[in-house]
Amino acid sequence: MQKVSIFWFRRDLRFDDNHGFYQALKQNENVLPLFIFDRNILDKLENKQDARVEFIHEQVCKLHQKLGDHSSSILVRYGDPEAVFKELLDTYKILSVFTNRDYEPYAKSRDEKVARVLNQQDIPLRLFKDQLIFEPGEILNGSGEFYKVFTPFSRVWLSKFDPSNLEDFKPMHWKNLMQSSPFEIPSLKEMGFAKSDITIPSKTADEEIIAHYSETRDFPAKNGTSRLGIHLRFGTISIRKLAIKAAALNTTFLNELIWREFYMMILAFNPQVVDHAFKPAYDRIPWRNNEEEFAAWCKGKTGYPIVDAGMRELNATGYMHNRVRMVVASFLTKHLLIDWRWGEAYFAEKLLDYELASNNGGWQWAAGTGTDAQPYFRVFNPASQQEKFDKNWKYIKKWIPEINSDKYPKPVVDHKFARQRAIDTYKTALNQ
Ligand code: FAD
Repeated sequence: MQKVSIFWFRRDLRFDDNHGFYQALKQNENVLPLFIFDRNILDKLENKQDARVEFIHEQVCKLHQKLGDHSSSILVRYGDPEAVFKELLDTYKILSVFTNRDYEPYAKSRDEKVARVLNQQDIPLRLFKDQLIFEPGEILNGSGEFYKVFTPFSRVWLSKFDPSNLEDFKPMHWKNLMQSSPFEIPSLKEMGFAKSDITIPSKTADEEIIAHYSETRDFPAKNGTSRLGIHLRFGTISIRKLAIKAAALNTTFLNELIWREFYMMILAFNPQVVDHAFKPAYDRIPWRNNEEEFAAWCKGKTGYPIVDAGMRELNATGYMHNRVRMVVASFLTKHLLIDWRWGEAYFAEKLLDYELASNNGGWQWAAGTGTDAQPYFRVFNPASQQEKFDKNWKYIKKWIPEINSDKYPKPVVDHKFARQRAIDTYKTALNQ
């Protein structure tokens, strides 16, 4: 059997500044790159024209092509990772497996299972830090506990962050790749998927946008945010390089990257937040969960223009502006008293940049159930949000062409009534 070391790509679909890939090539010879289309994840996706699956497929094909320049190739499997590794153990004499660390509950349990299979044959699974500047556990308070609030976390984060000290893991040891004729890559069709109509934003960080981020980021009609979410999610860009750029160009933008790390840390230390409120008392809220109202929200037909524009943008593009995400999430949980987990699941299905930790954090913030949360008695007024952030109705008109006609629905609920109902419901539940 051929002796190999494996580098397993997951949410780090690039060669440039990829820590684990760099280490795999530096420390081993005959490195076999691997990607697994994980059936445990793909089988759960109902929409078989999922743009994210298409995106991953495209990126894997790009890796494949580039490896061809080095007379190498990427082995691509479609299946359950544990089973795939068992099969590979019958094909290769595996000396080690290198990969980058992932902090989500499913990923952690998957990696434990794979490590167990490998360890039975004394093969190490080596994990590296790649998707974060500081990983969970690196930023702790004076008592060695995780921070429950963002501001002190970000203060310590910033005090430890030194852009000049960040290593650039430029792969140099390409000769250590396993030489191979091209492996066959399963097509989208073979995995039961097809191309979607959605366009993926570019991965080039627009420096102009980042430089003016503080002034433009709150206005959904402007092209004022980076749209890098999907690239951070799947690692098609390096967080180290982006953070260096952010530190030089705009500290407000850097702050948003810290929020990303904060929520990943919260999820890593509190995996229960996937199904429960971060603050347990909030699990007592008796959600109304009216299905018709939920359907109206999903379709962008609540009669509240800023909410409807946001939902229609999401449905059409897989993206929604952050300001509007806050408004629609607040509207669903407070005005309609629908469980934040319903909204979270809808976003998870639709967002190109869907990322469990940030999505959960964002939803729990809006519902008032999470860390740093919006207090329950503060209920966004959709009309004043619109007045502040889309004064000229530019965003709204773009997404709701019938806004001024009688085709546009009447409000699904009265604002004043809904606001008071939310406050009363939360108050009663929390005082039980
Ligand atoms: P930019 O504004 O250009 O920011 C750059 C990057 O910083 C983002 O790509 C993202 O990685 C990070 N970032 C920015 N804001 C936040 C934030 N508040 N929390 C965590 N990271 C942030 N972000 C996701 O990446 N995935 C999600 O599934 C997600 N769901 C959300 C759900 C709700 C209810 C809310 C209120 C926010 C959610 N966010 C999520 C955070 C934020 O809305 C998006 O990161 C941002 O809108 C993506 O657009 P952008 O790439 O142009 O971001």
